[in-house]
Amino acid sequence: MALSKKALQSVKGMHDILPKDQPLWEKLRKVTRELGEQYNFERIDTPIVEPMALFERTVGEASDIVEKQMYVLKTKDDDSLVLRPEATASVARAYVEHGMAHVPQPVKLYYFGPLYRHEQPQEGRVRQFHQAGFEIIGGESDPVYDAQIVAMAYRFLEEMKVAKLEIRINSIGCKQCRPIYRKKLVDYYKSRPSCKTCKRRILVNPLRVLDCKEKECEVTKAGAPAMIDSLCTLCRGHFKLVLEYLDELGLSYMLDNHLVRGLDYYSRTVFEIFAEGWDAALAGGGRYDYLLELMGAKATPAVGCAVGLERVGVALTKQGTAVTAKPKPRVHFIHIGDLAKKKSLSLIEALRRGGVHVEESLGKDSLKGQLAAADKNGAELALIFGQMEAFEESIIIRDLKTGAQETVLLVKFVEAVKKRL
Ligand code: AMP
Repeated sequence: MALSKKALQSVKGMHDILPKDQPLWEKLRKVTRELGEQYNFERIDTPIVEPMALFERTVGEASDIVEKQMYVLKTKDDDSLVLRPEATASVARAYVEHGMAHVPQPVKLYYFGPLYRHEQPQEGRVRQFHQAGFEIIGGESDPVYDAQIVAMAYRFLEEMKVAKLEIRINSIGCKQCRPIYRKKLVDYYKSRPSCKTCKRRILVNPLRVLDCKEKECEVTKAGAPAMIDSLCTLCRGHFKLVLEYLDELGLSYMLDNHLVRGLDYYSRTVFEIFAEGWDAALAGGGRYDYLLELMGAKATPAVGCAVGLERVGVALTKQGTAVTAKPKPRVHFIHIGDLAKKKSLSLIEALRRGGVHVEESLGKDSLKGQLAAADKNGAELALIFGQMEAFEESIIIRDLKTGAQETVLLVKFVEAVKKRL
């Protein structure tokens, strides 16, 4: 019985990364690895499946992630697991679990991998997406690390050649000043018009009203008190230094009073990076000094960022600078006759071992078919190996542009091909 149409399609919001897309992903992996190495971060890979409680506790019960976006798995022994919706909590779990607090601090870790959120798919929003992330855990709660993380996220996007970047940054304060601000915000919203979602948010997770994109909230939101005016002396000093370090790095930024990021574990600096003309963040991050404490570990300062990799691809396409395919092989191997075909495999092996990027169409036996394949691939050189060449232990090297050709002995043909490339 044939499979249903649905069973023959990838799950909604989850996509194949096809061969044509691989050059982009290759570059994303390369940039992640190179930045990680340049900034002395070590790679970490955590499992895709984590205990549900890890996120309920850290990301926050009232966050969109925990409220509605997690893929929950019930195991046979009744464990509640989730496909990880974000990676910072996983990395922090690994830091605690593996006693990384006992090595020189801070510990700098980077990752690259898939995440899962059950959201409504739209441009730049999918249900399986990938992030490259950089986390600095432990040591001092020093603003210099916040600036370094912002710079890394920015560099990442620059290395990927995304143009016209804009850093938006804010401080959401600490345990001392945030509750005071939260109260001001709640009082302000109480007597003003807002949408249904915000009416609920103001009760369960008030800062999130600042995230609202609904038209009916526009005026209320625009007049809302700004966190920056409520920061305590320490948070104000911290934020001022972060901005000074960014100035020192020559990175411009926009102060964004409405930037809150919806997760419980953030403290002080939060930021996002956009490409001009697209209102979807390409990267985001911030300080999360309370995360480890929320997990029941010792209070540990930390700051990190994540780049949304699908969004980098969309931004590049929008800007007309999509990463293009790898260069095709410039050499095409052509055989004529059975004896030649039999010997062809080992000759092609010799070329590949010699570092020559060679294409073949061994499944085709006609000369015409093979020349057409060479032409289609845009090859510059054809290596023609026929019956006579097989007997004489030689091969013809033909320049496909000029038609000029030369016969060389097999004992030195790899070198002869290399010389012509
Ligand atoms: P977050 O973990 O929500 O702070 O997201 C960090 C980055 O991941 C965002 O700036 C986006 O670029 C990307 N991102 C988050 N959610 C999605 C999604 N559903 N689909 C694609 N990219 C996403």
